[in-house]
Amino acid sequence: MGNDGSGANMRTGNDLELVHLTKRYGDTVAVRDINHVFAPASYVCLLGPSGCGKSSTLRMIAGHESVSEGSILLDKSDISAMPPARRGTAMMFQNYALFPHLNVRDNVAFSLRMKGVDREARHKRANELLALVHMTQFADRLPAQLSGGQQQRVALARALITEPKVLLLDEPLSALDPFLRIQMRAELKRLQRELGIIFIHVTHGQDEALALADEVVVMNNAVIEQAGPPREVWGAPKTEFVARFMGGHNVISFNGGKVAVRADEVRLAETGVPAVLTSVEYQGATVAVSARTEAGEEIFAILPEDAYFKSPKSPGEGVTLAWDEGRMHRLLA
Ligand code: ADP
Repeated sequence: MGNDGSGANMRTGNDLELVHLTKRYGDTVAVRDINHVFAPASYVCLLGPSGCGKSSTLRMIAGHESVSEGSILLDKSDISAMPPARRGTAMMFQNYALFPHLNVRDNVAFSLRMKGVDREARHKRANELLALVHMTQFADRLPAQLSGGQQQRVALARALITEPKVLLLDEPLSALDPFLRIQMRAELKRLQRELGIIFIHVTHGQDEALALADEVVVMNNAVIEQAGPPREVWGAPKTEFVARFMGGHNVISFNGGKVAVRADEVRLAETGVPAVLTSVEYQGATVAVSARTEAGEEIFAILPEDAYFKSPKSPGEGVTLAWDEGRMHRLLA
């Protein structure tokens, strides 16, 4: 137990800290003075639209890109000038980057070979990693003889054999079909829990971030716009950008400011805001409708299937939208 009895002094893993981190490419500022602490043993998703600076941040942590200003601390020591292999980080690339002429086992063992570990010892360790990612039976195959999902498991094993304190994943699921993506997502989560290290996973998919992350870090225009647990970032967006990007919210003008209202809190009612229905989408358990108000604002609502079908409406018909004012959530400008 921690010496104050609260456990607060207990450190079961490593933490990673970005301090005033900036990346410039010529005149372009890709990452602007960001500060963030990644908690030990956490699964963190870096989320944001294309070009917001996610990959640059990841590549600076990995050491594949130089730091323009600021520092990167792993366990309080500055790793920002170290070569990638000495940082205690490992990166899994989007295209997996496996060596085509090496079999699966030798791909996984590659970094141990570079370190001069003997053949027997590195094969033993590679076999352990292959077991961890459920690829034991494919050890003698070449990468070209594997499916995309299997190649990805090999790439994961290859990154993990270096025993990193931080695993960096750049859009790791984007090359997979939707079914495999959901399967691999669960697999990544399992691995992170078992290993108890930090995973930093770059994605532009909000669903992926919500499903996986202990912490979601939303980036926009080279800065961190909001960071927190998924339910907090989704349920209490601080800015219009986060509300729109995370989805599921309406951003509405109200008393000269802007507020967010969750789409699943908007109802069709007897009294409220008059509007004209513009679209209806059946989604199974829910029905997504959108309607334009007299002020010209488009508001969407996610209605329970049974509520909608009690009195179904068609596009072009008038409806009345309502929500509890107490559920309106003020946004920063
Ligand atoms: P993301 O991963 O969120 O898509 P990036 O970090 O790749 O964003 O890019 C952030 C910004 O930096 C973009 O404006 C991009 O065009 C620019 N950028 C990225 N890499 C380079 C590079 N090697 N040279 C010049 N500009 C770059």
